[in-house]
Amino acid sequence: MPLPAILSDFVSLLFPQVCLACEDVLARGEEHMCTTCRAQLPYTDYHRLPLEQNPLARRFWGRVPVQHTLSYLRFQKHGRVQHLLHQLKYRGQQEVGRVLGRWYGQELREARLHPAPDLVVPVPLHARKLAQRGYNQADSFAEGLATGLQIPWAAEALRRTTYTNSQTQKNRIQRWQNVETVFAVAQPEFIQQKHVLLVDDVLTTGATLEACAAALLAAGAAQVSIATIATADR
Ligand SMILES: [Zn+2]
Repeated sequence: MPLPAILSDFVSLLFPQVCLACEDVLARGEEHMCTTCRAQLPYTDYHRLPLEQNPLARRFWGRVPVQHTLSYLRFQKHGRVQHLLHQLKYRGQQEVGRVLGRWYGQELREARLHPAPDLVVPVPLHARKLAQRGYNQADSFAEGLATGLQIPWAAEALRRTTYTNSQTQKNRIQRWQNVETVFAVAQPEFIQQKHVLLVDDVLTTGATLEACAAALLAAGAAQVSIATIATADR
């Protein structure tokens, strides 16, 4: 039963809900994010471009066949997007992933992607990292996207088999070699003949996503598309 307005006003006085992006107190009727942030987030809108004009698609040309290469937001240092990603990755705010995923998924569904994905699969964390953080930051985004797109998601379809050390000191080829063999399809029956939408929090070089896409295709996925919360310029 919904709380009477006076009671919910009292509750929000004691426990104010704040915007996930700027931390201002939300007004009545606002959910998760304030109206200003929601209007001013740097949306890429790449799903509205013809496939050949999508600048993200080029990152995978000649590497692995990808149907749609999508990212909801442009990464900006010290801005709202960095704050959102930090909340999701380091502050336990999985609501960030679910909310952004749901909004983006609804948009993608309305845009009628062709071909349309059948199943959402998150890029997995290694078990050791998962134990440290307690959750995979890609899971909540995968869950939200699946809700918005009205398709299932499979958290365990992919597995990371080797622990990779920090990749920040390596160049692109070394990074690629570093992640090349570390992903395995743990549940091939889920992905066979499916158009898989592979998701992660950020797209940078695309090396990790490329390795996952290659593993999915090798295990029988019909097609792979990619969606991330944000994309950073290389
Ligand atoms: Zn805000």
